[in-house]
Amino acid sequence: MPEEKIIIFDTTLRDGEQCPGASLSIAEKLEIAQQLSVLGVDVIEAGFPISSPAQFEATKRIAEQVTGPVIASLARANQKDIEAAAKALEPAEKKRIHTFIATSPIHMKYKLKKSSDEVLKMAVEAVKYAKSFTDDVEFSPEDACRSEIGFLIEVLTACIEAGATTLNIPDTVGYILPYEYGQIIARLNSEVPGIDNCIISTHCHNDLGMAVANSLVGVRNGARQVECTVNGLGERAGNAALEEIVMAIHTRADFFSKAEAEIPLTNINTKQIYRTSQLVSRLTGFVIQPNKAIVGANAFAHEAGIHVDGILKERSTYEIMTAETIGLSGSRMVLGRHTGRHGFADRCKKLGYKLTKDELEQAYQRFLQVADKKKEVFDEDVVAIIDDEVRVVEHTFELEYMRVLIETGETPTATVKIKCKEGIKEAQAEGDGPVDAAYEAIREATGQSAKLEKYSIRAVTGGKEALGEAMVTISEKGLTYIGRGISTDIIEASAKAYVDAINRMVSATQAGQEPELKAEL
Ligand SMILES: [Zn+2]
Repeated sequence: MPEEKIIIFDTTLRDGEQCPGASLSIAEKLEIAQQLSVLGVDVIEAGFPISSPAQFEATKRIAEQVTGPVIASLARANQKDIEAAAKALEPAEKKRIHTFIATSPIHMKYKLKKSSDEVLKMAVEAVKYAKSFTDDVEFSPEDACRSEIGFLIEVLTACIEAGATTLNIPDTVGYILPYEYGQIIARLNSEVPGIDNCIISTHCHNDLGMAVANSLVGVRNGARQVECTVNGLGERAGNAALEEIVMAIHTRADFFSKAEAEIPLTNINTKQIYRTSQLVSRLTGFVIQPNKAIVGANAFAHEAGIHVDGILKERSTYEIMTAETIGLSGSRMVLGRHTGRHGFADRCKKLGYKLTKDELEQAYQRFLQVADKKKEVFDEDVVAIIDDEVRVVEHTFELEYMRVLIETGETPTATVKIKCKEGIKEAQAEGDGPVDAAYEAIREATGQSAKLEKYSIRAVTGGKEALGEAMVTISEKGLTYIGRGISTDIIEASAKAYVDAINRMVSATQAGQEPELKAEL
């Protein structure tokens, strides 16, 4: 019964990427889109093409290269926006134009400065115009949850007549509570003429921590599409988290399924959830809190003695889902220095990576270096190695060599050699501490002096030989860039993270990145 399936509409690359500091390069967006396709999302909202040349290009490249999901592109309710969206989507196998306009009294009066009649007219014209480019048209009344229900019904009815096939009900400001949202969806589902032939969609923000709950109550009341982002990425408190939506539906199929037979309620391959979550976290630089549902480091860690005892006797005593379901192997000790290429390749495949021969070899060489220092290499380490090694950002600078001297009573000094187009550049510097000295030397060698905003380090897995992952945020001219580095040596990881951030800054500057226009949806 495919018509029973819940459509997963991923907006990580559009709504998610709008949050400050999360900006991704075109190549990174493409990499995430490819992974979203492997994950099995039904729709990828690739961008808001009118907002900047980079957004246009990213949407177009995804439309060209990513097959499987429908590729959607956002447009305000005007011709120019819709034309840009349609143009960017041209190469897509399956395309959707998603157009929107605010319908709440407060937005119409203060933001749009338009009457409700004008807004209604603009919505209808936009849907009709979008329809001239594709059959698949989605309409969103922005700030729907604070709109007058009578007007909402009027606008949606007119948009259906104009050809809209999906009607999205955004809680733009994250204001609504689950009971109310359920009532809105139920009312629209029963009162909007012609809605039976359309798909109702949810789009919830998490300002009150209700995004996932609201989306799910929407589904229970007749919505068949959920708009969400990986790790709940998004402005302010973020969007509804894809992994939580999917796993709630998956784990509680008894609650969401109308059919007796056990059919998957979404097209998501849950085993790809962990890998997708890690990829998005690494590329955006947004760290996942340890207690985050589903994908946090502690989400499957049972440590209380009474739990462990229960689980050893019977897993379901305390476990409602298994780590394996989201693609963590469950077995802790996996690889070591004696693991051959074949074993390593096999593990990469099981973790969901599709690597070229060269990428695999590159990752394997790095794995051997890590395994040499660290006896046990876990799945999390393999993910960190691959994501660190097989990177998409152009390496303008590469850390070739580093030496840091620390001695009691002496000022720490660092020497670095940085490889770049012009050859090897060497620099030596002092600092308050070893990381500070290394950073000063890197600044000298690269000639880049962006301001360091944030620095953090964490262990990828437990134990004293754990891989360290450093994350730094640097800023220049009002834009921020995040870099990451991993190593069994935390000072080296820190240095790599700093060089990575500089590389991202250089590549963004070359691409002419500028602050983009944002869609408040
Ligand atoms: Zn939104």
